[in-house]
Amino acid sequence: MKTYRQVLQEGKETLRQANLPEGDWDAWLLFSRAFGLDRKAYLLFGGEPAEEAGQRVFEEYLRQRLDRRPTAYILGSWGFMDLEFLVDERVLVPRQDTETLVEEALRRLQGRTGLQLLDLCTGSGCIAISLAHHLGTAARVWGTDISPEALTLARENARHSGAQVSFCQGHLFRALPLELAGTFDMILSNPPYISPEEYAALEPEVREYEPALALRADRGGMAFYERIAAEAAGWLKAGGALGLEIGCSQAERTAALLREAGFDNITVIKDLNGLDRTVWAEKGKR
Ligand code: GLN
Repeated sequence: MKTYRQVLQEGKETLRQANLPEGDWDAWLLFSRAFGLDRKAYLLFGGEPAEEAGQRVFEEYLRQRLDRRPTAYILGSWGFMDLEFLVDERVLVPRQDTETLVEEALRRLQGRTGLQLLDLCTGSGCIAISLAHHLGTAARVWGTDISPEALTLARENARHSGAQVSFCQGHLFRALPLELAGTFDMILSNPPYISPEEYAALEPEVREYEPALALRADRGGMAFYERIAAEAAGWLKAGGALGLEIGCSQAERTAALLREAGFDNITVIKDLNGLDRTVWAEKGKR
């Protein structure tokens, strides 16, 4: 008979031996889900015998993790900002880096009402739904994605969190009804930005499980920024803002595209690791 504590230790050891990054943390998350134990319950009852059914579930989770399936997909949900999002192979796992984009957006929009906002390449909906959740009736939020499967999940996530978002299927701005042209106060996007060469070198969790459609971009990873820079002004109000997540080596190239397209006040913001992570620009006031 094993105790909870022994089962968790063995799980950590299994992932350690496979040299998985964040192995201890993943083992805890999977253990906690398998037995329905949070930190406090574990501290109280860790010395008690672990039930067989939970052990079988935990073993199955560990097996998937050893196959390099991302922990978020095994769990079926993942935290972003202060909400929990359903995730599976249809969408990218929301990244903490992307919170940089949402936090800056909320900072810029603070205190304003009657807002019209757009999230291109919405995937799980994490950006659009976080905005709708935080801004409530101050904003109407739209999200687009080319993948109908991703949008099915994004709609489920919106229902789950009680946020109102209008999701539309199509490539970037093509998804939107034309009467929305010139109406947005802010456009955000975390588009695919990984070049085909970089993509081939990604870790198996990403390459073998996350949707390539959400990650890969032609033209050295710049294809989506080129399209967005060329078309965004037509969808923004005068004075509206554009915020883009970028790969850490793409800030200068993206800023140059935006400058050429006539945007003002172009700024680059770093993430918590000190890497260039978002580029911001504004459409002129006239
Ligand atoms: N907007 C989603 C995210 O940031 C999906 C991005 C994407 O699919 N490229 O996680």
